[in-house]
Amino acid sequence: MPGLREEMAHLELPLLIKYGVLPEEKEKALAVYEKYRFSAAAVSLLRCYYSDLPEAREEMAIDLKIVASRQGADLVVLQSTRHDYIYLHSDGQVVLLGEFKNGIKDESILRHFQYKNPDDFWEKTGTSPAHLPSMHAPEATASPGVCVACGVAAGELHILGCPVEQCPWCEAQLSHCNCRFDQLGVGTIEDDQQLDRFELLLERKGRIRFKSGQNPSYPTAGNDPPPFSDEPDK
Ligand SMILES: [Zn+2]
Ligand SMILES: [Zn+2]
Repeated sequence: MPGLREEMAHLELPLLIKYGVLPEEKEKALAVYEKYRFSAAAVSLLRCYYSDLPEAREEMAIDLKIVASRQGADLVVLQSTRHDYIYLHSDGQVVLLGEFKNGIKDESILRHFQYKNPDDFWEKTGTSPAHLPSMHAPEATASPGVCVACGVAAGELHILGCPVEQCPWCEAQLSHCNCRFDQLGVGTIEDDQQLDRFELLLERKGRIRFKSGQNPSYPTAGNDPPPFSDEPDK
């Protein structure tokens, strides 16, 4: 006889949500599903979450945040009422890695997303997922060739600051690398004018457009500060 979990896996996501959350959260939880229903990646993540609630906590999923995205795989934080979980999403497959507060220990996952070690993950990501960008929520069925973070189509420029955009100088994540300091010849970025100037330099160099399943094989960049932080690594 199939177990309850297998039975649950066949249920429609809205039903899983109704069973999974407390009655008072039901409506809000369904609204989150409605928001993301046209994103195949988000639906896979929500389905994985609701068909196997971590620690059987009956908490609704509030939002999905993109930590990193590389070669068709995404690291996503699912924020629930009281917890943050990290999931690995790739090709429609979703794996729960654990609670965000525990970071990532798996070396091959760290390496894939270009983190040198667990501390490097914290340095780049920050200790709270609050500032991370939400997953893109398309208004109609989006082709899979859409950036999971900023939602642009293949061949388009990312929205500046998108964690998926690659740096045209070093080919690492543009939101993490040190090139903005090197290109501007400054040690810290103090105002918006500098950022504007960097944007100009970036356009002159030629920004790297989103391609479906982005799979550059770039070397790990040297010293990486957190996303668009004001100071380079020491
Ligand atoms: Zn993007
Ligand atoms: Zn760079």
